[in-house]
Amino acid sequence: MNPERRPIIAGNWKMHNGPTAARKLALEVRNGLLGQRGGAEVVLCPPYPSLAAVAEIVAGTPIALGAQNLHWENQGAWTGEVSGPMLRDTGCTYVIVGHSERRQHCGETNETVARRVRSALGAGLRVIACVGETLAERDAGATAEVVTRQVQEGLGGLDGAAWGSIVLAYEPVWAIGTGRNASPEQAQEVHALVRGLVATLASHAQAAKVRIQYGGSVKPENAAVLLGQPDVDGALVGGASLQADGFLRIVAAAS
Ligand code: PEP
Repeated sequence: MNPERRPIIAGNWKMHNGPTAARKLALEVRNGLLGQRGGAEVVLCPPYPSLAAVAEIVAGTPIALGAQNLHWENQGAWTGEVSGPMLRDTGCTYVIVGHSERRQHCGETNETVARRVRSALGAGLRVIACVGETLAERDAGATAEVVTRQVQEGLGGLDGAAWGSIVLAYEPVWAIGTGRNASPEQAQEVHALVRGLVATLASHAQAAKVRIQYGGSVKPENAAVLLGQPDVDGALVGGASLQADGFLRIVAAAS
């Protein structure tokens, strides 16, 4: 971690925790953070039906609320979809875009990621933009090529000011929910690549400022060493964010 970039730890609860369970977990995280001195920014990303419940719990605290996806249109005949302005109205300040589970199972492409990113920014949301290669792509030596395309096509063409609202998350697909995290060296290598891409898409100054999270089986036991890499500025945490104690230990490791 670089001391000039404030670490950011986000909990992606995925399709876990309806409003009742979400309220309880958010309260545990809120109370646990009171006892921490840390400087990390904390974001909780519950599923849509639980956003309002968690918004109530985190109101007036430094904990930010994030959604796990959004549609690119602001309103209209899009049954089952949710828009950026609706998320803002619910209290979100962040939204995850391009998570690999959405790329794998819901037809998300770099092109739809780009549309969602622009829509989120237009609604005043900060974006956690996910990139990462599959195991087959890594084994084929295509990691750099895949990640480069995801960053260029998903985030290319943004104006300078927009970059202030972007956080990137490098999440190797083979490490998500598998218990097998990338080694610190593997993570650092791709994070450095991503930072270099931001320098070409935006500027060197922006690249020095942009935060890049690592995601993929982050646990209390491996958080410190992953977060110790110079270009790793935080973590996007799935499974381990579902227990307050483990999540708080990850936050502590970042602080
Ligand atoms: C994720 O869903 O973004 C993630 C990183 O999951 P996990 O921590 O469970 O691998």
